[in-house]
Amino acid sequence: MKFADIILPIYSPKLYTYEIPNEIKDKITLGQRVIVEVRKKLYTGIIEKIHNIKPEFEIKPIKDVLDDEPFIEELHLKFWHWIANYYMCTIGEVYTAALPPSLRLESKQNIKLVNENIQGIILTKIEEEIVNLLKKKEKEISISSLSKKFGQKPTLQALKNLVVKRLIISSQEVINPYKPKLEKFIRLNPQINTQEKFEQVIKNLSRAKKQLEIILSYISLSKLNFTSKNIQEVKYQEILKKINSPSALKTLISKGIFEVYEKKVLRLEDKKISRTINPLTQEQKNALNQIKSLFKQKNVVLLYGITSSGKTEIYIHLIQEQIEQGKQVLYLLPEIAITSQILLRLQSVFGNQVGFYHSRLSDNERVEVWQRLNNWISDKKTYKVIIGVRSAIFLPFKNLGLIIIDEEHENTYKQYDPAPRYNARDAAIKLAQMFGAKVLLGTATPSIESYNNALKGKYGLVELTTRYTQVELPQIILANIREAKKKKKMHGIFHTITLENIKKSLELGKQVILFRNRRGFAPYLECQDCGWIPKCKNCDVSLTYHKDSEKLVCHYCGYTIDVAKRCKKCGSFRLQFISFGTERVEEDLKVFFPNAEIKRLDLDSTRKKFSHSNILELFEQKKIHILVGTQMVTKGLDFDNVNLVAILNADSLVNFPNFRSIERAFQLMVQVSGRAGRKDSRGLVIIQTSNPKHPIFNYVIENDYKGMYQWLIKERETFSYPPFTRIIKIIIKHKNSTLVDDFALMLATELRKFLAHRVLGPQYPPVKKIQNWYIKEIMIKLELSMRLSAIKQKIVEITNQLKQKDKFYKLHVYYDVDPL
Ligand code: ADP
Ligand code: ZN
Ligand code: ZN
Repeated sequence: MKFADIILPIYSPKLYTYEIPNEIKDKITLGQRVIVEVRKKLYTGIIEKIHNIKPEFEIKPIKDVLDDEPFIEELHLKFWHWIANYYMCTIGEVYTAALPPSLRLESKQNIKLVNENIQGIILTKIEEEIVNLLKKKEKEISISSLSKKFGQKPTLQALKNLVVKRLIISSQEVINPYKPKLEKFIRLNPQINTQEKFEQVIKNLSRAKKQLEIILSYISLSKLNFTSKNIQEVKYQEILKKINSPSALKTLISKGIFEVYEKKVLRLEDKKISRTINPLTQEQKNALNQIKSLFKQKNVVLLYGITSSGKTEIYIHLIQEQIEQGKQVLYLLPEIAITSQILLRLQSVFGNQVGFYHSRLSDNERVEVWQRLNNWISDKKTYKVIIGVRSAIFLPFKNLGLIIIDEEHENTYKQYDPAPRYNARDAAIKLAQMFGAKVLLGTATPSIESYNNALKGKYGLVELTTRYTQVELPQIILANIREAKKKKKMHGIFHTITLENIKKSLELGKQVILFRNRRGFAPYLECQDCGWIPKCKNCDVSLTYHKDSEKLVCHYCGYTIDVAKRCKKCGSFRLQFISFGTERVEEDLKVFFPNAEIKRLDLDSTRKKFSHSNILELFEQKKIHILVGTQMVTKGLDFDNVNLVAILNADSLVNFPNFRSIERAFQLMVQVSGRAGRKDSRGLVIIQTSNPKHPIFNYVIENDYKGMYQWLIKERETFSYPPFTRIIKIIIKHKNSTLVDDFALMLATELRKFLAHRVLGPQYPPVKKIQNWYIKEIMIKLELSMRLSAIKQKIVEITNQLKQKDKFYKLHVYYDVDPL
């Protein structure tokens, strides 16, 4: 066994073979991280295979081994390969998505110092030198420049250790908006390092009673011990809790007896269990029992329960059982925004056993989760439950028993960019299968696919039909915009009915949510004489008017210009803003309800750190009366006092050009409605539309999911859409539009030779140019009976062959499997 095939974080479909040097021969196992060189650059790779077959080309040796134990288990590697094959990307792309950057250091990265305090941390000489260098260099430096100084191999080895010691991180972090929580700590000045010196300090303080008290409580809280090498630190606040005398503490610090410093703390640490699990109602108990008995025959169960029926309570019972059996649970959520509410709910019953994982965590904190999970056996502090968004499926679970996928219908489970373009719901089902674990899909509005699978008997199906609090689902009414315009009952963008009901709610001290799926003030500006519309110079879209900044902005690339005063085409001054966005809703509302506190929740109002949670907090405390927002207001938020929700333009949801638009519009309207009247009184939902006869509204009003399903499933069948076919989209991009056109046409022709009528296009997507890149798409619809993996392979082969011709190698070509 002299050779190893290695996964590298680079775009290449193959594994790379390296020689295993004799001196590390005995240390090498599958799944370990190793350092290897590719074109003079160092990378952290993962050993996938060890063998005796000498390649024909000349090969290099592995430079170093980073782990004693496998870092990734075989099962996970298999899972990675499944993702790469199914979603038509490379294994390197999966690896890059799976591991946080600090766990796969490579020479092109920069690193950053995040903790200057090396006291008490044992460092090798080179590690210390790196830290000192970083202190000087504004805390950031490139790995390649460090390699020049210390040599490649020792550098990466040292950096790996510094990551583990939590002193540095990879500076991909810089673009990460997450702000870590800092907490103040104190500790004894390191120069007071013997019992004698310490007693001298105490003697000198004999008159300062408060200071002495603080020292005493420091001794007890830190379990002070001069023979230990550990830092004996105590939280600043903890000391003050015992002896509330900030001035005495400050004096001790200014005298140099204590040192004070700030440190990142994990938000998860020390979550005390504060309550027991709620007993279930009879209906919930029945559902739980059904789920458990269905799990005996099926791997996946769909829990279809209306909003507030207590699905989450049922999850908690199932999690409890898994923990008792020594198993792990992955609890997937579609959005970061709702993780914190669920997290608190779970922590109150499971305490520290719950961890969470999402992209807003710093790289550092993600590393921590990885390390804890990788210590499953030895470390009692490992997590039993992980709450996470889609990337959590890559975590190194050891003993997964259950995956809960909440709001399984949500499209945020699908990753758009970059590859792997996976659907975490579907991938999680595969992952569970590999573990022999079960999957519970939960939702109030199942996706057509999942419900179809349940009806076919592929999944188990369990229903919950009553709300826990017995509060009825809200009443839903339509407000006809077209008719109101004729009768002069539209007041700008609001129907009379909407305004009247907002007024009523406010008088009752209730809160209101208004939904509009466009941000900005107006989606576009239009010349009344010639129809000219200002467009982005980089993208094929109109510019949205933002009143806050008095600018026209492109929502795809951020391109911004001043508002035109006159038409660029005909010179007319008659320019008018068309349609409306959330900014306009907010502004108009202020005119109608000058005394109400109104806030907006959209991408623009939440750019600043914490502003999203701040707005929600204020709303929860009833300090905001009306919340106006985009999709952000629709997701799983639980507010008791809201009794009115208005959807201001339902037509834009229904008319979206996509075969899923009706399904999505239904889900969205039902989810928004779920925000109304959750605790004590029945809520009202007003849907403003110009087309009230559209069949979807009846299903929404009657809350008739099954009726809607029957209608849509027939359409899907008639037009050969999923779940009756599978779709693969091929996306072709380049700045040169002719190159894109020529290649797309050639590829489609070539593919037709093999797949005939199943190939559709090429055609432009709704937005055909983004940031100066032209885009064309080819859609392939495959019957369910076809052998998917073989066809995918062939498609990739054909594409790669064509790409080798002429200048086509320059094109970006990628695949979107099961696009939404
Ligand atoms: P869903 O997940 O179906 O929307 P939740 O589990 O969030 O529903 O339940 C809605 C509300 O009702 C929550 O505030 C929850 O705490 C409460 N609730 C549901 N079931 C119970 C129960 N068995 N005991 C106590 N409270 C419950
Ligand atoms: Zn004009
Ligand atoms: Zn643009």
